[in-house]
Amino acid sequence: MAESARVGIGYDIHRLVEGRRLVVGGIEIDHPKGLLGHSDADVVLHAVTDALLGAAGLPDLGDLFPDTDPKYKDADSRVLIKDAMERVRGAGFDPVNIDLIVHAEQPKLTPFKRTIGESIADLVGLPSDCVSVKAKTNEGLGPLGVADAIACSAVVMLKGRTTG
Ligand code: MG
Repeated sequence: MAESARVGIGYDIHRLVEGRRLVVGGIEIDHPKGLLGHSDADVVLHAVTDALLGAAGLPDLGDLFPDTDPKYKDADSRVLIKDAMERVRGAGFDPVNIDLIVHAEQPKLTPFKRTIGESIADLVGLPSDCVSVKAKTNEGLGPLGVADAIACSAVVMLKGRTTG
């Protein structure tokens, strides 16, 4: 299996603004601000989706679901990651594990780590102990530190499916 292991990295950032729902990792969190974007702006699912696609050597999220396409206006990122997973499996790969960091000063996401991890595990078809979610503040530094944005970094491992 070692020779068919593939790793992928994903990153995303979205601005936090008033008048939007906050959707993180496929779950909605009650907060006065939400993430700005063409779709639901789920920064965590976007980073994980790009990591999955990258590990499989497939086109990235922006290529597959362009934010210039009206079809993806307010798109549910859970639908996008499921579509991406079908492509990843179609290319002969299954997920092994996902590790991610959400960089958010506000809201504090520590109480939601478990729910976010379970949501992602369910979306990609992994046991929940194969999805690790870490929540970090930015120690008050930069746009993340003053809660103007939320970012996510994700790493994914895939294994190639052997046939015949
Ligand atoms: Mg995005």
